[in-house]
Amino acid sequence: MTATRIDGKAFAARLRERVGEHAASFEKATARKAGLAVVLVGEDAASQVYVGAKGKATLAANMASFEHRLPSDATSEALMTLVQQLNEDDSVDGILVQLPLPDHLDEQSIIAAISPDKDVDGFHVINAGRLSVGQAGFVPCTPLGCMMLLTDRLGDLSGLEAVVIGRSNIVGKPMAQLLLDANATVTIAHSRTKDLAAVVRRADIVVAAVGRPQMIGKDWLKDGATVIDVGINRLPPEPGKEKGKLVGDVAFDEASEVAAAITPVPGGVGPMTIAVLLRNTLVAAHRNAGLEAPADL
Ligand code: NAD
Repeated sequence: MTATRIDGKAFAARLRERVGEHAASFEKATARKAGLAVVLVGEDAASQVYVGAKGKATLAANMASFEHRLPSDATSEALMTLVQQLNEDDSVDGILVQLPLPDHLDEQSIIAAISPDKDVDGFHVINAGRLSVGQAGFVPCTPLGCMMLLTDRLGDLSGLEAVVIGRSNIVGKPMAQLLLDANATVTIAHSRTKDLAAVVRRADIVVAAVGRPQMIGKDWLKDGATVIDVGINRLPPEPGKEKGKLVGDVAFDEASEVAAAITPVPGGVGPMTIAVLLRNTLVAAHRNAGLEAPADL
């Protein structure tokens, strides 16, 4: 079998286009743009790139982008004050504090200060709780993006065996919850799981969110499995090259011999994350305006 390549990049582009169209209708209906505020503390190079990309994508989707940059020695009070101002600002529908924060700032207490109704990253404990009891809230962007790719590919997931590898609060746990809500039979595997290969081999759906390059080979996969690779890992550079290649947690070429469908890295899950962030922001804007969010978001 040669697996179908799940084109997350194309799916994300279509989602961004729908968000852009609905955002234009939102502006017509409410006489204001939906708005996303992104807060960056410090000079972390990767974070600067992410924040820049989020700002550009927000503008391209007909929404307002508010960027706030604080110095790396910003105090917790200064950051809390800013978050409070954004909570109270009616032109801001979504607030995202770019992680990681400098060591002297406590991420959990900063996230807790964001209004849960503007927490478009879905990291607030209220939103984790809402997800766990099945109430409408905000779901973290990466797992929600994975779920969109899975349902687009497989339709009804009822009764399928799903194995999520990784149990982080931002990927593994919410991913497992979403699969459970879709009536899959879910196993969460992690660093202490015994005989991980045997566990993964049971799965109709494998979601890998570990951060170990090409850990999952073809021997770990059941024939016809659908594989979602969340991992983003950089291999050491080849001689003469400055940067190593980006790979996922799955050995893509060999896994493609066994799987029915698989996301590549790059071009799979990665592009979904920003697209879902825009989607969550527009959903927040509708809720904040007392409107029903469009069904195809
Ligand atoms: P994390 O480090 O918080 O969690 C990793 C998880 O993997 C842990 O729960 C741990 O138990 C598990 N693990 C570690 N070693 C293992 C092993 N040998 N066997 C089985 N399980 C093991 O990471 P995270 O934030 O959940 O991210 C996971 C990966 O996904 C990283 O590569 C990250 O870069 C990537 N990621 C990608 C996106 C995206 O937009 N595509 C978003 C978030 C994270």
